Amino acid sequence: MIRKLGVAALSAGIIFSGVSPTAASADENSQVNNSMNNGDKAENIIYMIPDGFNADYATNYRHYKGEPAVWDNHLQGMFSTYSADSNITDSAAAGTAMASGVKTNNGIIGLDPDGNAHQTILEASQDKDMSTGLVATSTITHATPAAFGAHVDDRNDETEIASQFIDNEIDVLLGGGKNNFLPESEGGNQEETNVLQQAEEQGYQLIENRNQLLNADIDLDNENLLGLFADDAMSPELHRDAEEEPSLAEMTQTAIDTLNQDEDGFFLMVEGSQIDWAGHDNDAAWAMTDVGAFEEAVQEAIDFAEKDGNTLVVVGGDHETGGMTAGANGSGTANPELLHSVTATGENIAAELNEGRSNASEVVNKYTDMELSEEEIQAIQEAEDPKMAINAVISAKSNVGWTSTNHTGVDLPVYAYGPGAEQFTGFHDNTDLPKIIAGSAKIEFGGEISQKQPEGNVYTVKSGDTLFEIGLKYNYLWTTLQEINQFPNPDLIYPGDEVNFK
Ligand SMILES: [Zn+2]
Repeated sequence: MIRKLGVAALSAGIIFSGVSPTAASADENSQVNNSMNNGDKAENIIYMIPDGFNADYATNYRHYKGEPAVWDNHLQGMFSTYSADSNITDSAAAGTAMASGVKTNNGIIGLDPDGNAHQTILEASQDKDMSTGLVATSTITHATPAAFGAHVDDRNDETEIASQFIDNEIDVLLGGGKNNFLPESEGGNQEETNVLQQAEEQGYQLIENRNQLLNADIDLDNENLLGLFADDAMSPELHRDAEEEPSLAEMTQTAIDTLNQDEDGFFLMVEGSQIDWAGHDNDAAWAMTDVGAFEEAVQEAIDFAEKDGNTLVVVGGDHETGGMTAGANGSGTANPELLHSVTATGENIAAELNEGRSNASEVVNKYTDMELSEEEIQAIQEAEDPKMAINAVISAKSNVGWTSTNHTGVDLPVYAYGPGAEQFTGFHDNTDLPKIIAGSAKIEFGGEISQKQPEGNVYTVKSGDTLFEIGLKYNYLWTTLQEINQFPNPDLIYPGDEVNFK
């Protein structure tokens, strides 16, 4: 990674925000590291997570598309997904497992159940001077990306996650959720801090629409890139306004182009966030179109990896959502291809129903050419939740089945391409994935990181103090020892100065 020290860090106080593996942590994964004897090292890592996706999504999507998906011939193995407190994980615990290699309770980001922070594969990549990026179609501070760049005990604390992302100097951040960076005084969710302004002062270039993304020209030596394309989540692919919001593939391409400037290589995580939301809604058309948008992003990654030759691309969901089936209701065939005629989510279709829902037939016909029977129209009119009723009708027509509105605990496929891809063969646990990736890229990874901070978060420098001693005194470790050495001029700290820990 290329460190950019903002003006703020050098003026009033010195802000140390890094975290680092403790000495005891390094050999936890030596077995995985040592198993890589092929000398085939991954220089770049692109870790792609289709949230909520499993083999039934893959099957339905293949039929929907009419030909194999880009990942089909890169299948390597499967993995289990249970969390520390449930055999059905949520995205926070799953993300923590996939980022840090540890099991935690549902809802927790980057900490184990006892509250200890664990280094993420992104942070380990930073320690190796690699550039890093996160891309998502949800808010960028949502559970899955959060698990790679933050440590918080509640996934809903997205404002804290936003601050940690910027403090941690993640080079490229692209997604939705501008409001989590802005203070309440400007309509945002931060109590007081303007994290966007802080980011700008720290060297981030801020962008907020598709054109700016396509024309982004970041000099990674001096700049980072923060693209927030919606106040909250970005749009489902079905409703994406092509002029304003970039596609997941476009964000992925810009992230790769930007991060690839770093000779030390890069780590990029890309999430297809809304496949999961489609699953919760049992919305088969939303699921297929967002899987399609994710596939285009994977295609970008594979295209780059093929040209580059030293890039490992790993694709795996964090859990299944909805208990989707390929075939349903006693039918002998599944017809997901019929979903091509659906042009809105069930939620958006339902929003156009009038009070008595007398326009049900008309509204549904506007967004699909599926013929509805009298009974189906009646079912939509009488349903407690018309959105779910519309989605049920559309799913039944295409014989896509659903068994839950929540996540399920089923094992998931993992796909990989590039140096080390074959290491994913066989059956794994979700905590193995980042360890295998680290092994393939020869990244030292894993273990607890110290987050202990001095009381009051302020330390007054005394005569003879050095940065290193302050760190030891408070058991507070910088990102790396190297970072301390790289600090522009430790002699600039004078007795009486205040060091602010954040
Ligand atoms: Zn998830």
